[in-house]
Amino acid sequence: MHRSSRNALVPALLAAALILAVSSGCGRRARPSPMGSVIGVKIYEHPGPFGPLFDEWRGLGVDTVFAGESLARNADFRNLVRSNGLTLYLIFPVFQDPEAVKTDPGLAAVTAAGTPAREAWVEFVCPARGDFLARRIDELRRAVAAADPDVVSLDFIRYFVFWERVAPDRTPASLPRTCFCPVCLAGFERTDREQGHAQVTHFFKQSMQRGLVNHRTG
Ligand SMILES: [Zn+2]
Repeated sequence: MHRSSRNALVPALLAAALILAVSSGCGRRARPSPMGSVIGVKIYEHPGPFGPLFDEWRGLGVDTVFAGESLARNADFRNLVRSNGLTLYLIFPVFQDPEAVKTDPGLAAVTAAGTPAREAWVEFVCPARGDFLARRIDELRRAVAAADPDVVSLDFIRYFVFWERVAPDRTPASLPRTCFCPVCLAGFERTDREQGHAQVTHFFKQSMQRGLVNHRTG
C-alpha cells in the first residue's frame, strides 16, 4: 500500500473510534464520578454468573468497567453494567494480535535484529500493514455495534514495546526498534529513492537479510 494512504489509516481509526465513542454515548449519561475520579475494574473473562460480581463492585464503589470484547458483547453482562449505572469501556487491542501473526506470520512486526517482535505474551502486527489495519477498523465497527460501549479504549496502538516491563532506568537506546519487516523495508527504499539515499538503504537491507538468515538458522 502506498505510504501516504497507509499513514492516513491510523488517524482514520482514531477518528472512527472517537465518533463511535461519542455517538454510542448519546441518549444516556454515565454516572458522574466524584471529583472527576474513576474507580474502575479491568476484566477480560468471567464464567458467570455476573450478579455476585456486580454486587462486589457496587460495594467497592466501582463506577467504570473496562471490558474485553467477548464480555462487552455479552448481553447479560451489559445489562448489569447499565442497571448499575456503570460506564462501559470496550478494550480494543489494535496491533497486539498473536492469533493474526500465527495465522499469517508475514504480518509480524520485525525488530532491528531481524527477529519477530515478541516478548512474553506481547506479539505485534506491523503497524504499517494497511490491509490488517483496514480489517481491524471493520472489526472495531462490528464490536461497537454489538457491545454499544460508552468509550473505546484503543490499546496497543503503537510500535512494538512491552512497556510494562520497561524499568525507569532503561535508556531509550536499549528499547527494541521496529519495524523492519519487508513492507517497511520497501517503504524505506521508496523514501530513500525519493531522497537520493538508495545505496544506504540497499546496504541496510542486505544487513537485515543477513540478520534474518541468522535468526532462521539459529
Ligand atoms: Zn513493518
